[in-house]
Parts: sequence; C-alpha cells; structure tokens
Amino acid sequence: MDLCGRSQRGALREASRKQASPRRWSRVNGWSWPLHTFQAVAWTTLFVLAFANFGIFVPLLPPNWNLVIYGVTGGLFCFHFVVHLLAISIDPAETNVRLKNYSEPVPTFDPSKHTHVIENQYCHLCEVTVNKKAKHCRACNKCVSDFDHHCKWLNNCVGGRNYRCFFCSLVSASASLLFLITILLYVFIQYFVSPEEVRTHPLYEDVSKDTWLLFLPLFPVKTKTLVVLGIGVFVLLLSALSLLLLGHLLIFHLFLSMCPDPHSSLCPLRSNMAQDEVCWPLLETSTSDKSQEETPLEGQQGSFCSEACRGHERA
Ligand SMILES: [Zn+2]
Ligand SMILES: [Zn+2]
Repeated sequence: MDLCGRSQRGALREASRKQASPRRWSRVNGWSWPLHTFQAVAWTTLFVLAFANFGIFVPLLPPNWNLVIYGVTGGLFCFHFVVHLLAISIDPAETNVRLKNYSEPVPTFDPSKHTHVIENQYCHLCEVTVNKKAKHCRACNKCVSDFDHHCKWLNNCVGGRNYRCFFCSLVSASASLLFLITILLYVFIQYFVSPEEVRTHPLYEDVSKDTWLLFLPLFPVKTKTLVVLGIGVFVLLLSALSLLLLGHLLIFHLFLSMCPDPHSSLCPLRSNMAQDEVCWPLLETSTSDKSQEETPLEGQQGSFCSEACRGHERA
C-alpha cells in the first residue's frame, strides 16, 4: 500500500513538474509573439526621428539645398525601412526546421539524456539534422543557420538568411543619423549666427521673429522659439545616442567581417562574448532581462548558444 502510495505521489510530482514546464513553440520571425520592448523602442525612435527630419528641420534649410536633402534622406529612410522590415520578417531558421513548418511545440531539453542540445549535427529540441554553423537560439527556440546573434531590437535571430539585411539596416541607419545630426548642427549654428538663413520660406514674412513654422510647406504650424529649440536638443541627443549604439555595432561587424569565419565561436572577436550579447553589448547584459528568457527552459547550464557551440566543437 505504502509503495503504491509513494508511487502515486511520485507520479503526481512528475506530472506536476511536467505541467510546470510545458513544451514551448518556436518563434517564426520578429513578428511572432511575444513582441519585445526594445522592438517598440526601435520603431518609435525611427518614426520620431523621421518626423523631425522631414517635418521640422529639412524645411529650415536654404531652398537650393532643400530638394537634394529631401531626396538623399528620403532615399536612405525608404531603403532602411525596407531592409529593417526584411531583417525582422525573414525566418533565419535551418532548412530542416522550416520544412517542419513549426507544426508542433519543441520538447523540453532533458540533461539526463543528452549532454548538449546539438550533438553530431542533430538538434535534440528541433529533432532535425542541422549544418555545422547552426545554433539553437533560446529566445526563438529553434536552430538558426549560420547563427550570428539574437537581436532584441529586431526581436529576431540574425543568421545567414537575413544577415545582409541586418547589415544594410545598420549602414543605412548610421548614414541617416549622420545626415540628421549634420542638419541639426547647421540649423543650431545658423540660428545663433544669422537666423534669417533658416527662415527663408515666404510664410516667414508674415510672422514675428519669435514665431517659427513647423511642417512646412504643406501644414504650417506656428510655434515659439523655445519649443523649436527644445525639440532640436531632444532630437540631437536622441540621434547622438542612437548613432553611438549603432556605430558601435557597425564597427564591431566591420571588424567581424575581416575574420575568416565570422560566425564561428573560434573567431577571436566572439571568443570572450556570449553570442546573444553581440547585438547591443551595452544593453543586452541586463540580468533581469536574461533571466526572463532563460526561465522557461529548465535543466540548462550557462548560455544556450554556448552549449550548442560546445556540441559542434565536440562533433
Ligand atoms: Zn534546435
Ligand atoms: Zn533567436
């Protein structure tokens, strides 16, 4: 009786343990649930800066520059918008993972059965064979071909299939920010040196010196100098911070491209860095953020990607 009772209690404990760690579905791309806060911050920043650039500051430039700057910054914005969308929307998963069509949730890793998630080019979670450069991403819960890193700003993994879009997105965003900062510095300098140079639109003839017009030429909105200066300082600080982060990442990836095998953990630039820290080294190491992503997968020791790397190296 006692044995039976213990057995039942053991079975119940086992059943409740299984209930506590349900199988997780894999995420398809950056639009799959759950969305990430950083993703919303990235899109909000993009639209705030575009709004300020096209609606407020480019119209303050001299008329002969206006159309050229509209064309250049407009072209860069459209290009960035397209490659940014593609980097989020492309599924970077291994071919065999995509062929499975995400029809079933992924099993929970059992460390009593396997030492590593990927062994001999077989992923025990995706239950498919994978290529040598694939790694199983903890956040996406799937194997990604030519894994580079998991980017929280895109809310998607960056791998061989979307790396070019990610890189073009970095280059176009950095170039756009450089243009915007240059425009802002020109407007600030002219405001203090010769304000009439930034008040060339004919509508300025009918307003006082303390009045400025936003959203020229289509929807002119009157406002005071202090408001324009406040917006200018805010946009300048936001642009400088964004350029600092993007430039840092861009330079890292430019150096990485010089490595013979940039996706390998053997690349010296990656050797001392967890794979998921590559996106934004300044922000990604948040302990609370990491613990949220690591909690659902029980029985794992250390970085999921590092486990996968060691699996490959052993194989
Ligand atoms: Zn996998
Ligand atoms: Zn991922």
